[in-house]
Amino acid sequence: MERGISHLTLPGDILDQNKISPAALSVIRTLNSAGYEAYLVGGGVRDLLMDKLPKDFDVVTNARPETVKRLCRHSMIIGRRFKLVHVTEKGTLIEVATFRKGNTYEDSDNVGMLTSDNTYSNDITDDAIRRDFSINGFYYSPADNVIHDYLGGISDLLHEKIDIVGDPDVRFSEDPVRMIRAYRFSAKLGFGITPRTRSAIFRNITDLAQVNNNRMYEEFNKMFLTGHGEASFQLLMRDGIMQNLLTDMGPLIKSRQFFDFISCCLRNTDARHAEGKHNMPHFLYAVMLWPLTRKLYLKMGTVPKYSSLKETDRMAMAGRIVLDRQSVITKIPEFVAQDIIDIWKMQIILTNEAVMNDQEQVKTVVWKEIFRAGLEFLMNRVHMDENLERIITFWTDTYYNHIPQSLRTRKALVSSNKARNQESRNSRSEGVRTRRNASSGKRSRTRKTGI
Ligand code: ATP
Ligand code: MG
Repeated sequence: MERGISHLTLPGDILDQNKISPAALSVIRTLNSAGYEAYLVGGGVRDLLMDKLPKDFDVVTNARPETVKRLCRHSMIIGRRFKLVHVTEKGTLIEVATFRKGNTYEDSDNVGMLTSDNTYSNDITDDAIRRDFSINGFYYSPADNVIHDYLGGISDLLHEKIDIVGDPDVRFSEDPVRMIRAYRFSAKLGFGITPRTRSAIFRNITDLAQVNNNRMYEEFNKMFLTGHGEASFQLLMRDGIMQNLLTDMGPLIKSRQFFDFISCCLRNTDARHAEGKHNMPHFLYAVMLWPLTRKLYLKMGTVPKYSSLKETDRMAMAGRIVLDRQSVITKIPEFVAQDIIDIWKMQIILTNEAVMNDQEQVKTVVWKEIFRAGLEFLMNRVHMDENLERIITFWTDTYYNHIPQSLRTRKALVSSNKARNQESRNSRSEGVRTRRNASSGKRSRTRKTGI
């Protein structure tokens, strides 16, 4: 049921004050001292309420952007129609927004969707009802140490619910990105999406195609690279949304091979994130689009016109076709596209016995910049194709023999390869490959495939 504005205040002491960014507090103090309201808002407060360390802190105020810029040193106004102020304080970037009323959230220049007026407001409740989910609408005021909840957010937080603010059909058609944000938060927090929110997503999901592809690229990266990729993927697959994010999947989207391969790669990506390592978009896209690209590459091999091409050229051609199509949904920057194609070409080179038997070629290959990513990608494929194990061992050994210690992270490759081999051996000795589903704890069978 849609809820109206209600006002609940909670004591600020329930937040762990030590986890609040001193930079955000300092910006708020500056604005308060000049007589303006200012609050910590959004995911920062939500995460603190859940005892998590927030990724970033956003500030909202009734001061206009020009005033914020004047009051805060090291600040600049960004955006044209939808102005925000970036304040750099104690080396940390804090985004400061001004209360607004109106229908849309993002800069219409960016979103590429029809928008109506976004006018500034002095009323915090105008700002609250424009937020996407109730759990994203907490306002913490450090001055009086109080958290304001205007949207029933605390109840949803305690009941572990993702609930859209206002009428779901209206809110999703205003900004379809909110639909995939619901899955991101559901995966990140382990919360369920309320039935009214979820059924409106099913009704409106095709509107996602209208969203600007640059914005979709950013959302896609946030969804899969920031530590909850596997859970996001599995929720999106459960609800049949994944095909709205990937191009031309057709029946492939329903194949067990696709599901297992992507789940397994994303599990590794999440593990890297947990270790504090940076995950790169080129690797993510190489993974996501590999089943489709590989299928196209193999198909081209049966057509005389293409089968005469060098295998790496054929792979590059298949890859380019797939990436151009994908870019209609998520605009992949050209430098990322180049790296993706190089990773895919590397798959041909690394599995070529003639190359492996030629010392000169081997040396050239291991010195290539994309070699590490190509080998890492091949390691992900080993779960689906045991025949690759010998090849991976060959290239890993060669890498250590040829590349000096100072230029590589030996520990990282050895241990990840060992862990992978160990896991493969364990699952083989069980007779079938089994996989523990991290989110449900269920065990499921994974067929050996050739992805
Ligand atoms: P994260 O921890 O992933 O950063 P977040 O909730 O802070 O999560 P942001 O994308 O940083 O998410 O956005 C900050 C806040 O801005 C959100 O909490 C929400 O209140 C609001 N917001 C962001 N995007 C939208 C949108 N498309 N529609 C409505 N509100 C939005
Ligand atoms: Mg945030």
